[in-house]
Amino acid sequence: MLTYDFGCSDCQHVFEIIRSIRDDAAVLCPQCGSGKTNRLFLRAPAIITRHSGRADSPLQSLPNAEKMTRAADQTVSKVMKDMGMS
Ligand SMILES: [Zn+2]
Repeated sequence: MLTYDFGCSDCQHVFEIIRSIRDDAAVLCPQCGSGKTNRLFLRAPAIITRHSGRADSPLQSLPNAEKMTRAADQTVSKVMKDMGMS
């Protein structure tokens, strides 16, 4: 079982669920009940999505942006490995 971040297209709520990598059943938003949810591979893009009205990347203004980027890279590597794509 893996932990996934999901984002809701209707209310922009971002939430985490734990499920099997083969489980592709619809995920409902826990906040508004919408089925229009998208899996987010990283927490960083979720932050960008929530601030999509801004032209500049909010990541650059965060004090720990570099650390977050590195953690995100490690997450990608782990996911790719889990999926047998490395
Ligand atoms: Zn929602």
